[in-house]
Amino acid sequence: MSRFWSDVVKGLTPYVPGEQPKLAKLVKLNTNENPYGPSPRALEAIRAATDDTLRLYPDPNAERLKRAIAAAHGVEAGNVFVGNGSDEVLAHAFLGLLKQARPILFPDISYSFYPVYCGLYQVACETVALREDFSIRVEDYARPNGGIIFPNPNAPTGCLVPLAAIEKLLQANADSVVVIDEAYVDFGGTSAIPLTAKYPNLLVVQTLSKSRSLAGLRVGFAVGHVDLIEALERVKNSFNSYPLDRLAIAGAVAAIEDSEYFDQTRQAVIATRERLVGELKKLGFEVLPSAANFIFARHPGHDAQESALALRQRGIIVRHFKLPRIEQFLRITVGTDEQCAALVAAMKEIVA
Ligand SMILES: *Cc1c(COP(=O)(O)O)cnc(C)c1O
Repeated sequence: MSRFWSDVVKGLTPYVPGEQPKLAKLVKLNTNENPYGPSPRALEAIRAATDDTLRLYPDPNAERLKRAIAAAHGVEAGNVFVGNGSDEVLAHAFLGLLKQARPILFPDISYSFYPVYCGLYQVACETVALREDFSIRVEDYARPNGGIIFPNPNAPTGCLVPLAAIEKLLQANADSVVVIDEAYVDFGGTSAIPLTAKYPNLLVVQTLSKSRSLAGLRVGFAVGHVDLIEALERVKNSFNSYPLDRLAIAGAVAAIEDSEYFDQTRQAVIATRERLVGELKKLGFEVLPSAANFIFARHPGHDAQESALALRQRGIIVRHFKLPRIEQFLRITVGTDEQCAALVAAMKEIVA
């Protein structure tokens, strides 16, 4: 704390991202990155864009990227907003759409950046408890609200809300914006993007960080009715005209267009996840049903924090949240088969 800080800064509780260790040797299963590299076509596009034109500003509207995303999802470029990672897109949604007189609603166990944005932008919020089985039930959101947001599949549980339930939620909340954060949808869910044509109150947010293996490039986007997109553009153009640099635009376009590589790598992650779940269940773990590139698991006989520490001593890092209801869970990113085999071998020793 310093006397030079503004009152706003004094009151902030910033988000704490998962560790990015400097040690290269670690088996890193703690921040849901993709274990496979980006599309070779994306890397090539970034290399090709690395030239003299970097002296020029990028396209402030990233039109090429909006068109590529629109084509991939069957919408118009005017229905697409792009930002520096979906975290930035979400931040603009909090200020531009979710800051309302009534409190917004999100699950009590969810992406921990949501309460941080509420703190930053002074957005009133209420949490809605997940059910005993850690699922989101849309019926529990039937109360006056200024908006609703949750990840689907949810983080850090991995549990999926079916599209039919999301449609019910949209119909029951026609006067508020519903933001579906689909950071993990490509690993087992069905995107709600087609519903944006029918529901002007739906904003779907996605990222290239997980299923497109580009966490380091920082590209995220939102799809929705042009009026919702315009709100995000107004915030963006009052904050940073060039959130996406030339390399990010070039790499993201190529990654979106390389649907073959995308399908191949996400299917590999899904197959590894299913094997990992089977192995952990054999060791006595309870594993929540996951539609994501991570699993959420607890062992009835072993303390999660101690297990995380024991894994770390064996060179494997996973995520543990010291929070009510979930402090006995470990969130484990699905890595390669080799990485997951190393995790299972270590776990075998720990629970023995
Ligand atoms: C990873 C993640 C994001 C943000 O990803 P970016 O890297 O900022 O695009 C957003 N929401 C959830 C739920 C996530 O897990």
